[in-house]
Amino acid sequence: MVLQELGDKLTGALRRLQTTTVVNDDVLNDLLQDVCRALVESDVNIKVVATLRKGIKEKVNLADAPAGLNRRKMVQRAVMEELVRLVDSGTKPYQMKKGKSNVIMFVGLQGSGKTTTIAKYANYYQRKGWKTCMVCADTFRAGAFDQLKQNATKLRVPFYGSYTEADPVRIAEEGVQQFRSEGYEVIIVDTSGRHKQEEALFEEMKEIQAAVRPDNVVYVMDATQGQAVFDQAQGFHQAATVGSVIVTKLDGHAKGGGALSAVAATGAPIIFLGSGEHFDDLDVFNPGSFISRLLG
Ligand code: GDP
Repeated sequence: MVLQELGDKLTGALRRLQTTTVVNDDVLNDLLQDVCRALVESDVNIKVVATLRKGIKEKVNLADAPAGLNRRKMVQRAVMEELVRLVDSGTKPYQMKKGKSNVIMFVGLQGSGKTTTIAKYANYYQRKGWKTCMVCADTFRAGAFDQLKQNATKLRVPFYGSYTEADPVRIAEEGVQQFRSEGYEVIIVDTSGRHKQEEALFEEMKEIQAAVRPDNVVYVMDATQGQAVFDQAQGFHQAATVGSVIVTKLDGHAKGGGALSAVAATGAPIIFLGSGEHFDDLDVFNPGSFISRLLG
């Protein structure tokens, strides 16, 4: 389970609330301390944690509350709601439209898991019966087209790309045009994720975006990057108007809390979590059910 350690700590803190005979300010403060410590330890930004703490305090007014079970419920509900808010951007993700060409452009830094995630995403929609295809507009990284092609072949998803054309904008435009005319419903466009030349990368992203007019731009972000992701996510968001986010590598050792909370704060909703290297390792993300599951 993703973020097992954080889940265990939060559950432990809420369980202690069950065993106290009275719920007073001391009990609430102890609980808040445990919850906040657990979040900080799992890499959530300290300012974000402070906002959560304030939010819970504002929701829980013990002085006016009747004694007994209701107080406990009130505290639990406030903690739950504020945890959901932590991973909820407050915006509705793009809804894929049946019978129409939905062009979905993927962006993200090299190594973030973008190409793998594209395969998972294609697999997800294809299995649900959507006519799905891929376009490789990453002409920067040697081997990018081969990797996409291999995945597409395994998934039996049509693909478009070129070994000779060096202009990613042209490939993206031609590929999307071809698949649009063939009535494909989910047209996934992979873009370059080069490091260290961010200016050039962002410029290219803008050009591809202008050429293919995507219905949604999906930003792929690596959870193992911890709190650094906040600036990265904002940079991409400004350059390409990111519509949704997929957080990868939440299996393994990622603390994950930093990524999840930082991304939500950029205003783009998280739509999936990547939890492994296989095509099936992609989980639909919903803030409410994610927090419910986290709390067991
Ligand atoms: P790209 O450069 O962004 O296209 O990244 P790739 O898709 O090539 O992925 C980089 C590495 O991360 C590969 O070894 C992938 O197998 C791995 N990877 C991608 N997503 C996940 C994930 O959710 N979990 C794990 N453990 N590894 C992942």
